[in-house]
Amino acid sequence: MSGTGARRIRVRVEGLVQGVGFRPFVCGLAGAYGVSGFVGNDPGGVFIEAEGEPSTLDAFTAGLTGQAPPLALVERVSVEPAEPVGGSGFRIVASRRGEQPDGALVSPDAGTCAACLRELRDPGDRRHRYPFANCTDCGPRFTIVTGVPYDRCATTMTDFEMCAACAREYGDPGDRRFHAQPVCCPACGPSLRALGADGLPAAGDPVEVAAGWLEAGRVVAIKGLGGYHLAVLAADGAAVALLRARKRRESRPFAVLAPDAAAAGTLVHLEPAAERLLTGTSRPIVLAPRRRDAPVAGAVAPGARELGVMLPYTPLHHLLAERLAVPYVLTSGNLTDEPIAYRDEEALRRLAGVADGFLVHDRRIEAPADDSLVRVFRGRELVVRRSRGYAPAPVGVPWRFPRPVLACGAQLKNTFCVARGNQAFLSQHIGDLESYETLRSFAEGVEHFCRIFGVRPAVVAHDLHPEYLSTAYARDREDVDLIAVQHHHAHIASCLAEHGHGGPVIGVAFDGLGLGADGTLWGGELLVADLVSFRRAGHLEAVPMPGGAAAVRQPWRMAAAWLDRIHGDALPGLAVAGRHREQWPAVVRMARAGLNSPLTSSAGRLFDAVAAIAGVRDVIGYEGQAAAELEARVDPGERGAYPARLIEGEPLVIAAGDLVGAAAEDVAAGVDAGRVAARFHRGLAAAVVRAVRVVGEGTGLRTVALSGGVFQNTVLLEAVVSGLERERFRVLVHSRVPPGDGGIALGQAVVAAANDRR
Ligand SMILES: [Zn+2]
Ligand SMILES: [Zn+2]
Repeated sequence: MSGTGARRIRVRVEGLVQGVGFRPFVCGLAGAYGVSGFVGNDPGGVFIEAEGEPSTLDAFTAGLTGQAPPLALVERVSVEPAEPVGGSGFRIVASRRGEQPDGALVSPDAGTCAACLRELRDPGDRRHRYPFANCTDCGPRFTIVTGVPYDRCATTMTDFEMCAACAREYGDPGDRRFHAQPVCCPACGPSLRALGADGLPAAGDPVEVAAGWLEAGRVVAIKGLGGYHLAVLAADGAAVALLRARKRRESRPFAVLAPDAAAAGTLVHLEPAAERLLTGTSRPIVLAPRRRDAPVAGAVAPGARELGVMLPYTPLHHLLAERLAVPYVLTSGNLTDEPIAYRDEEALRRLAGVADGFLVHDRRIEAPADDSLVRVFRGRELVVRRSRGYAPAPVGVPWRFPRPVLACGAQLKNTFCVARGNQAFLSQHIGDLESYETLRSFAEGVEHFCRIFGVRPAVVAHDLHPEYLSTAYARDREDVDLIAVQHHHAHIASCLAEHGHGGPVIGVAFDGLGLGADGTLWGGELLVADLVSFRRAGHLEAVPMPGGAAAVRQPWRMAAAWLDRIHGDALPGLAVAGRHREQWPAVVRMARAGLNSPLTSSAGRLFDAVAAIAGVRDVIGYEGQAAAELEARVDPGERGAYPARLIEGEPLVIAAGDLVGAAAEDVAAGVDAGRVAARFHRGLAAAVVRAVRVVGEGTGLRTVALSGGVFQNTVLLEAVVSGLERERFRVLVHSRVPPGDGGIALGQAVVAAANDRR
């Protein structure tokens, strides 16, 4: 082709291409192909003009996708011809700002890379032991971005002026910090301080001071990437107990940070997939089976067979972990049910009395982000809480959102979602919308997302439940079209969206509670659903929930409701009734009279009843605790399963009372909790599979989507999936989007778009 002369092209690259070293990469690529021109960021992504021989331009364009840097996610490359202008060299030009960003993406925070870690440990390097080292392949992103396009002045690093040495690295196309926006060093960047409980600076090296406090059994607040954490040494039982007491008797399991993968391996059994997740750039907490001899205090994760483990993800966490050389507990810096603290003044105030000392720094956190939490299911990631390291990466869907959508999510474990084009941005974990602080965090988060993704919502989706604060927020928006989406339909739609499947499918949505289309509380649902609508094809038998919210906190009330339904006044002698003999008759009367006892078909409440009957848990400290502990008790060697009838009809009903009755009979006969738990899980799974088969025969549908928080239970999930596969169904399960209420906003968004006919 030589001799035809140079050509010039104008290229647009869209996707996750800002803050991931994309412009330097383009410069390098241009150099390699001898292409001249320029590259820059704009609110839509990256713009390029390139001039060269046609064949090299083709190779250059192909390389934009094929050779992109590790953190980049190229979604679209479009090319149009331009007039050749000649010239030589290739450079980065100033970012172009615009009113309506459309297409630019902010990347998630990424764990410290190997090259930065080497510098951190190298006494000859100018970033030796510098807690804020980062480069184009790693470091803070989402949590420090204040606007778009992604440039230093649109991050909280704008507070720090680069020194000459950093500026040289930043401007040198051959340097791995070329245009790394958070680039900094001890001479010019953020610095670390240790503060005592009184807020006054402590003398000495801050990491050394904090390590000393931890070794002395104290509780230390540590400012990380997405907020403040509280730390104690994991093996120190007294310190762990102190932390629990100060976090207002928090009963959730704590996560543990291990210095490296080998140390993590002394805490939990790591299958290869779990180790990959643990060491990957997202750096989530990975739930894995705990080793019997794990060097952690029992109070770290009481009643759990698994332990949540993570590796250091910032230089600061690395320095502390290497100094301590033992695992430490790292849990969100908040009191029970509050959002994670991330603004310095507020954190110091809220954590006063909780922490004995603070390890802080002066880089502002713009957006809070809790640690993400994942399990492994069949060698794949199963995200339980999607937050730091994941948000705000887009969930690509093969459909277009006709108009920009805001989906407000559910009440508990809230996330929201903004969507435009063919991308949905699921927010970081917000929390339970039950306090002023969480609601404020939600509202600020929505504004932040709309700003950084340039979305002005025209359609706002919300749950059917009128009392969810997310629903109230949606109804308060001006100049938008509201679309209400039923809770379990949203669950199934989120699973469909993750798989790019439009339905119809048979959806099995098992969770705690969600308002049903008939005004009762659903939670054990078989829906025939697509993105537009659904039909309730079947459900678990419904029972009264005596005392409403009180029954959620006190699983034994669900046992009372079920046992009364089954046995009436002829209740056999059961320990659970004995333990609550004083309140039992009143609770039964309440259930019978239907007084403050809404009917529910919830699978979560069914697990509660069986957990109480099996003597596993009568009263909970956090949502889902009884079910999680019942799962942890399952005896893997048990092959029995409780039978449950199917009551044919429209909708079909799974006689869940059969499972409860059989469990009670076993418990009365002295069968241990592990076998009861196993027989219950296996019986419920078998009943679900049979119910799906009946719905499949009636509809001809052969694809099943499983969603809802109950499917975080991998024992149940495995039993249901393998049962359905034996019946030759295609089964869709969650992976990158949580099956629980943290995934609901995505489902609301796609259902709203499917119903947006304007
Ligand atoms: Zn790095
Ligand atoms: Zn510097």
